[in-house]
Amino acid sequence: MKVLVIGSGIVGLSTAYALAREGHDVSVVDGAAAPGSATSFANGAQLSYNFVAPLADPEVLGKLPQWLTSADSPLRLMLTLDPALVRWSLHFLQACRRSVALQTTQELLLLGLHSRLLMHEMQEREAFDFDFESKGKLLVYQNEQALAGARAQMGKQAGLGCEQRELSAAQCLTLEPALEDISARVVGGVFTPSEDSGDCHALCMELHRALSTRYGVGFHFNTAVEGFRTEAGRIAAALTSEGDLQADAYVVANGTGAQKLLSDLGMNPLIYPLKGYSLTYTLTPQSRAPQLSVSDVHNKVVYARLGNRLRVAGMVDIGDRSTILVPQRLSLLKSQVQDYLPRLNAAEPPLEWAGLRPARPDSKPLIGKTRLRNLWINGGHGALGFTLAAASAAVLVDRIAGRQSAVPPAMFQL
Ligand SMILES: Cc1cc2nc3c(=O)[nH]c(=O)nc-3n(C[C@H](O)[C@H](O)[C@H](O)COP(=O)(O)OP(=O)(O)OC[C@H]3O[C@@H](n4cnc5c(N)ncnc54)[C@H](O)[C@@H]3O)c2cc1C
Repeated sequence: MKVLVIGSGIVGLSTAYALAREGHDVSVVDGAAAPGSATSFANGAQLSYNFVAPLADPEVLGKLPQWLTSADSPLRLMLTLDPALVRWSLHFLQACRRSVALQTTQELLLLGLHSRLLMHEMQEREAFDFDFESKGKLLVYQNEQALAGARAQMGKQAGLGCEQRELSAAQCLTLEPALEDISARVVGGVFTPSEDSGDCHALCMELHRALSTRYGVGFHFNTAVEGFRTEAGRIAAALTSEGDLQADAYVVANGTGAQKLLSDLGMNPLIYPLKGYSLTYTLTPQSRAPQLSVSDVHNKVVYARLGNRLRVAGMVDIGDRSTILVPQRLSLLKSQVQDYLPRLNAAEPPLEWAGLRPARPDSKPLIGKTRLRNLWINGGHGALGFTLAAASAAVLVDRIAGRQSAVPPAMFQL
């Protein structure tokens, strides 16, 4: 079957890869000039298969007043009269029920753990060069109460296939000596050995190279999809800035752009951009930087080693739909890095970046059919697109084929 995938971020490329391996005749269209140039460009680099608990959680309700008033909060809510944000927020509040958060965690874990399996299989097969590491992830706690919360969450997840262990402060430092400078503040940690990391943009480039040279996939860059022509409940063509593109099936996998394409067709996927920031430091022989993936739970900042670089990411700014670099937010992130790793000794000032997470109120991506017979969606992966891309692509391909998949059919439907 001839399939057109819209979007060449990590989700679109993973979808194209899974479709091409299934034997479909695949093309990818993207408004940008190169693959992986939007949110997949410089994310936190965490393949965080076991850390999928949704943002919507009963505990966030108590924190809302602080987010609204503090400029230094890792999560900031900017009050705007954007109707899309109001609608998104109402659904978010509904998803904050304990039962919903628990069910969502279980569903996302199924997808996350399947993604790990597929990512490792793909690496066996392709040996892609993207600074992929399987060293595990260490969550570091500076507060007993937060550590107790993590212990409870670990207990809940233990029965769901997650292998995690609690570490004392001393064990955290033995495992990751780069934390030595903050040793007095560490109260303990949680180590998850099965977590990976890698450079999402580099994987996008590798997928693009493999798809175009070995899997026969065609690419149309600088070609924005502006809408669709529909006929009798089906898509007849994608209308692009460069003319019409026709296929037997179409997959919307264009990150935050999916909201407009689907709402123009009368559907509401409730995908809203949640802004975040990253810094990428080039390390020197004198740098004292973590080897493992580390999460500073106190500041909600993640650190990942990418060869001789260190990627640092954080912040969730709700209500700012732009990728403009706001100096105050960058300064806050830089000061947190300086405080955490005072002997980082980077070669030069870090590369600064901001991106928009394609987030749904309940943190669950949409993978499957839409109201139009030959239009499919793989989108709304929020803070976990890199992590969940491999399994989401496999599930979508199974759904297109009408097969059973690793996750039950009702999960992740529009
Ligand atoms: C600060 C930050 C840190 C993050 N850290 C992590 C992490 O550590 N681990 C993790 O798993 N995830 C992380 N994420 C989330 C992850 O980066 C995203 O979920 C993922 O990149 C989304 O991929 P995507 O392919 O859906 O979208 P994108 O990467 O945004 O790709 C969408 C593509 O569609 C194209 N497009 C859009 N509209 C159109 C149109 N109309 N026509 C044609 N083309 C179109 C765009 O040009 C783009 O190339 C982070 C995100 C941020 C912002």
